[in-house]
Amino acid sequence: MLWVLVALGVVASVHPATTAVVRWADDRRVRAPWRPRCVADTHDLAPADVVPVWSWLARRGTCRTCGEHIPGSLPLVEVGVVVLLAAVAWRHPGPVLVLLLPVAWSVVVATPIDLARMIIPDRLTFPLAGWSVVAATGLALAGVVGVGGVGGVGGLEGGDWADWRRAMLVGIALPGGMLALSLAFQLARGQVGMGMGDVKWGISLGVAMGWLGPWSVVAFLVATVLASGVVAIVLLALGHGATARFPFGPYLAVGTVVGLLVPADVVRRLLL
Ligand SMILES: [Zn+2]
Repeated sequence: MLWVLVALGVVASVHPATTAVVRWADDRRVRAPWRPRCVADTHDLAPADVVPVWSWLARRGTCRTCGEHIPGSLPLVEVGVVVLLAAVAWRHPGPVLVLLLPVAWSVVVATPIDLARMIIPDRLTFPLAGWSVVAATGLALAGVVGVGGVGGVGGLEGGDWADWRRAMLVGIALPGGMLALSLAFQLARGQVGMGMGDVKWGISLGVAMGWLGPWSVVAFLVATVLASGVVAIVLLALGHGATARFPFGPYLAVGTVVGLLVPADVVRRLLL
């Protein structure tokens, strides 16, 4: 039953993901996400035009109704949603997916928007932050009263108030730390470091990582810092220097994927 729901949820979230990437990048609302619309937002799409990847390939990246160009990043987003959400569902089978799948979805949606526009939209980060807190609270409550086997899934995904407290703590500490870093960078360098979108996104990422446990938080932080360090070195090597601006969201995305997927004992063995 859970798997049917998860599979339906993953499939249902594919088209809204591509719509969100197009609309939110231009600070436009996604109206009626269940109704497939063309990227031009001028007409609805026939069912044959919303088959992930295939529709894009068959039309060669052009809408057959209005001729609008469909960016090549959109089939990648479709593949990304299916692959990442399926991987997260496989890693954490159980009710905790109500918290983790939306966060995984946000990774696939936020990355192309941040790369293209250097923003992570409020339309994504605010509802996601609210949902993360609600989902974590629901999981803890369900675990305490023992609803639907929450709390007993392999003894690992169990929701209780210790998980909840850790999730809330990291959900506050992570964006708080990012804000402090950003302000320090601004004071020292006189230019904006991390955008506020990253900080707002950090709330839900922190709640998810905190819920999963201390090693997921560590894995997230290490992977985020390593990814940003590697890119900084590459940019320096290419002669871009320290003035090159690069969005921070993709590093958070790398950290989140690692934190979601790499098991705690693997992280511990790699780091200790
Ligand atoms: Zn069209």
